[in-house]
Amino acid sequence: MDDCKTITCRLIRLITFIDLPIKKKFHLFGIGVLFWFMVMAGLTVIGMWGISTRYNQIVNHAVPQDKVVQKIIRNLQAMTIDASNIVKANEKVTVTLLQDLSTKRLRDVREFSTALAVGGEVNDYSHDSGTLLETLHTTSLTGNPEGVAYVRELNTLIDQIDQSYSAFSQHKLQVLDGTAENGVVLAGKFDDLETKIHGASQLSSNFSSKLSDLYHKSADTISEIIRTTVLTIIAVLLVAVILLGIFTRWISQALAKPIGEIIEQIHSVGTGDVDLTNKIQITSRDEIGQLSQEFNGLMDTVYSMTMFKKVIEEDTNLEDVYARLGEVFRGELGLEDFVIYEISENQRDMVPVYPLALDAKALACSADILTNCELCRAKKTGHEISSLAYLQVCKQFKQETGKVHICIPMMIAGRAGGVVQFLFDDPQGDQARIEMIHEKIFKAEAYLKQSLSVIEAKRLMNTLRESALKDPLTGLYNRRFLQDHANHIISGTLRRKKCLGMIMCDLDYFKQVNDQHGHDVGDVVLKDTAQLILKGVRDADIVLRFGGEEFFILLTDINPGDAIIVAEKIRASFDENKFKIPSGVLKKTLSLGVSEFPNDSEGFWQCIKYADVALYKAKETGRNKAIQFDPKMWEGEQF
Ligand code: GH3
Ligand code: MG
Ligand code: MG
Repeated sequence: MDDCKTITCRLIRLITFIDLPIKKKFHLFGIGVLFWFMVMAGLTVIGMWGISTRYNQIVNHAVPQDKVVQKIIRNLQAMTIDASNIVKANEKVTVTLLQDLSTKRLRDVREFSTALAVGGEVNDYSHDSGTLLETLHTTSLTGNPEGVAYVRELNTLIDQIDQSYSAFSQHKLQVLDGTAENGVVLAGKFDDLETKIHGASQLSSNFSSKLSDLYHKSADTISEIIRTTVLTIIAVLLVAVILLGIFTRWISQALAKPIGEIIEQIHSVGTGDVDLTNKIQITSRDEIGQLSQEFNGLMDTVYSMTMFKKVIEEDTNLEDVYARLGEVFRGELGLEDFVIYEISENQRDMVPVYPLALDAKALACSADILTNCELCRAKKTGHEISSLAYLQVCKQFKQETGKVHICIPMMIAGRAGGVVQFLFDDPQGDQARIEMIHEKIFKAEAYLKQSLSVIEAKRLMNTLRESALKDPLTGLYNRRFLQDHANHIISGTLRRKKCLGMIMCDLDYFKQVNDQHGHDVGDVVLKDTAQLILKGVRDADIVLRFGGEEFFILLTDINPGDAIIVAEKIRASFDENKFKIPSGVLKKTLSLGVSEFPNDSEGFWQCIKYADVALYKAKETGRNKAIQFDPKMWEGEQF
């Protein structure tokens, strides 16, 4: 999507509305459809207007005007006939009648001429019966220069015809009275009259032809307009259909394609046959683009979570899992300040496990929670405790830090196996920041949920391993522990160039305790023995229950010769000790054999054997003794 840098590309994106929200896209699409309708409607209106103008010219102007002109022509033609009849008439009454008729005809011609000049209504009466034949509606010829000239010339000719007619008919009457000659003079007057009437008729015919031309021209224009309009509308319709077709196809594709891809991806998630790194291409900035982006984000999260779970499942120990969780919080979610606490199996202590080696003073909570985890509200309630939701919700939180906290319990097998405390600078009501915090916490919780089953499994494994390595009666490690850790202990000692003191201890005549006081008392004595030995050594030393009433002590990083001193001290403490048993007190002594690694042997197990040999010597020489190994004591094969 960001590849679009050229102007053409940007222009295409702009005109195809690709980055507009879907709602706007459809609005604009609707506007586009409306635009084309308007164009077609506009073209139709323009065409109709053109047709109407021409039609108006024909029907309201040319046709009625021509009709009036035709009436003028007919009247003029009738006047010629009347004049011919006057020439032939033998009686005065006939002449008078014809003269009267022509006068009426000429008057009608004048009226028709006036009507053409000013426009309006004009009646056509029968000259025989006087009845109304027709009422003509005409428009004025004003504005039509040829029409104006026609009316002017016609009026001049009418006046001339009037005079000629009077002179002609007068002369005929005189002829009939016998006061004038019927011959050449009358013929001359008739010719003069006929010429004038003919001139007026010709003038009218010419003008009528012009009106007809106008009529035909307008009719042709109407056909032309109809043809042009229809063709233009067809062309516009074609363009509109093509454009709308392209847009419809494009919009439907732009919507359907990414949705189809998302559906396919969701389907493949459902069937498990999914490549989570396969991204949906983002082609637009509209809702579909956002949906694709969100979906890709979701797939990313699912992918990260799946990978995260896979990785932590393969991690060897719990510390690695906590560290991995911490890295995700810090690296991927940008959470800077947080502590992961682990709650011990005894449900009493809680220990910060990430970051490691955190000083109690550096904690945002009172150190009391470390030894009494019930004080931790998230642990106690089993739900999220947020000071964003309720100020000072937890009494153990140090308010003076000025921070806000969200503590999430890690619920394992129905109880809190740990608590993660997230700390933030106080957003002070800034909604955007609060929302961002919640968003991060939401993601962190998702990662936590992914890790819970792994943490549970690893804790269970640890417990099992612990129980396999520990003696349940005394709580001391057993021989198996030594087998597992021997290499580690040896290499550390050699690296530090130190000595490892080995003391093999065995209670003297322990069988008697069982025999005289019972097995349970024997157990109590064994437990007390373990504690007594532990008291006699440092924390860094390792005390193991090697067999029934046999204990083995590893004194780490000692100087040569120190081991026998410690052994003697332990022996003495037994000598002075009184075991409390139900029937009173019991005194027991301890025999100890001592060797030093690597002074006595470079073989670790050989050295243990030497301690055992020395113990045997102590037993042999009267018990209640601590004896240092001497090579003379060992005459057997190398171990
Ligand atoms: P010695 O001075 O030679 O070591 O004599 P001893 O009686 O201590 O040695 P022996 O090996 O004969 O007896 C060890 C006894 O320790 C035998 C066994 O019943 C007892 N024993 C071993 N494990 C336990 C245990 O877990 N509880 C109890 N009550 N007795 C145990
Ligand atoms: Mg014994
Ligand atoms: Mg023994």
